[in-house]
Amino acid sequence: MAFKKQELFGLSVDELRHIAQEMGMPAFRGRQLADWMYKQHVWDFSAMTDIAKKDAALFAEKCTVLPKDLTVLAEKTSRDKLTSKLLVRLADGNSIETVGMQHGYGYSVCASSQVGCAMGCVFCASTLEGCVRNLTAAEMLSQVALFQKKLAQTGGRVGNIIIMGSGEPLLNYAETVKFMHLVHQPELYNLGYRNITLSTCGIVDGIENLQREDIPINLAISLHAPTDALREQLMPVNKKYKIQDIMSAADNYAKATGRRVTYEYILIKGVNDAPDTAKKLAKLLSGRLAAVNIIPVNPVKAKGWQRPDSRDVADFGMVLQDRGITATIRKEMGSDIRAACGQLKAAHTPGDIF
Ligand code: SAH
Repeated sequence: MAFKKQELFGLSVDELRHIAQEMGMPAFRGRQLADWMYKQHVWDFSAMTDIAKKDAALFAEKCTVLPKDLTVLAEKTSRDKLTSKLLVRLADGNSIETVGMQHGYGYSVCASSQVGCAMGCVFCASTLEGCVRNLTAAEMLSQVALFQKKLAQTGGRVGNIIIMGSGEPLLNYAETVKFMHLVHQPELYNLGYRNITLSTCGIVDGIENLQREDIPINLAISLHAPTDALREQLMPVNKKYKIQDIMSAADNYAKATGRRVTYEYILIKGVNDAPDTAKKLAKLLSGRLAAVNIIPVNPVKAKGWQRPDSRDVADFGMVLQDRGITATIRKEMGSDIRAACGQLKAAHTPGDIF
């Protein structure tokens, strides 16, 4: 029977100390491991210079550090150098994309939560081939680690995480929550919960469960339409979870955390961009602890949706603002390398997306 190595990446210092002791080593090896893996971004035991050679050899024999087993198959940087997209091959041969963005306020990583996605939103590339599998917390953490390692070379650090890559995080609930806890730990990446945003297509029971976790992360809801009839045409998930139910779960979340919920609204020409639709949206959100993030649809090959003219985008935002709804138009980043919203795919098709 093949011997399965113990995966260390994603374990806390206490867990690492325990493993070291079980292997007959002093407990402090646990802290050393954590420091190398999470602070120095060294994932090769033989390069962990303060670990005795024989212990390093024993670790190498019995354990692995996940990011070392991942292969960055390709890396693309946008013309303005602000956005990078990595195509990462996972240990089992599946691949995911992950994106890093330099904003004025810091560096954000847009993490994927699944290989592909099962939601079937008609405007999104991530769902073209369905959901292959959930990512583990360690695989999500590795996406942060890859960018953190790059940034550390110039003294930078990951400041924000948005779980907005491919996949529906609330359908990979346990691992996503674990990931958020891990990334928050001081001995890992020390990210404040307020610097984490989770985006969902509106899995109501997932939102309710998330509220019970009692961690003050930001919640973003991909709304995209103010009525069930229209939303259903764009997002099959709306057949199961209706807008009113999503809104009341989101309201409760906002109340419990005191944090405004962001409603993402992609604008598709001739589909959901009419001033009248904006009025309906304003009515729906009126009186709620909410803000709208307007995203002109990004082109996805094989879909053919069009982006409204920039005047219509601005007008849509004005209708909301005139009615007292906070609305911003999302700054588009990385569309020249297909790293923008809705453009991330699971599989690597040579000559296609990368
Ligand atoms: N499943 C989650 C996480 C994915 S987030 C969710 O639905 O929220 C990806 C964000 O990009 C969502 O708001 C999604 O609706 C949006 N998006 C998808 N396709 C897009 C496209 N072609 N143009 C712009 N935004 C898109």
